[in-house]
Amino acid sequence: MAFAPRFIDGKVFGQDIGKVVCVGRNYAAHARELGNDVPDQPLLFIKPASSVVDLAKPIAPPRHLGTVHFETELSLLIGRRLHEASPDAAREAIVGMGLALDLTLRDMQDELKARGQPWERAKGFNGACPLSPFVSVKGRFVDWQQLGFSMDINGELRQRGYTERMLFPVAELVSEISHCFTLEPGDVVLTGTPEGVGVLPQQARLTMAIDDWLFLDTATV
Ligand code: ZN
Repeated sequence: MAFAPRFIDGKVFGQDIGKVVCVGRNYAAHARELGNDVPDQPLLFIKPASSVVDLAKPIAPPRHLGTVHFETELSLLIGRRLHEASPDAAREAIVGMGLALDLTLRDMQDELKARGQPWERAKGFNGACPLSPFVSVKGRFVDWQQLGFSMDINGELRQRGYTERMLFPVAELVSEISHCFTLEPGDVVLTGTPEGVGVLPQQARLTMAIDDWLFLDTATV
């Protein structure tokens, strides 16, 4: 079923979600915690529209397929077509910011990596991309590299991200993506996870926030 992104005031964005373009290893500390090198160009992958679910609803990943890890990420809703766009044009095209969980079947991903195979089975499965409602940023100034975001599980802080620590900042990242994958209205960009990823527990309460912008309570099944 198609998923229409919505804003925190309840307004629905006019287009269904298209693709979700994700960046791996955009924070050096996270690259290191999984034993990976820090990349010299963004490591990009795509989650299909069919992987998107509402983050505000209970999260029920396919645990029978192995260990499920959470990765808390700042998400961007793209409002206009971007094809080989400049960083300025890319920044202008962002109409919403939110939070996402890049759910990852970690055992499966490790196996796929070892075999030199693509990650889609581990990252693009049904329900792999819970998205929050978006904060509309139209006509508002956002200092994209001065945002803080966090995720608590059962009241305990598990991830804390500072966008100033991104290896590829927001505008440059979206510009770079548009040189490889033309972005369309309704596409979403996930900007990478800070360190602190871990197993997503069952029956847990998740509290997520972008400081001063967004607050969200949700749960796992
Ligand atoms: Zn991720």
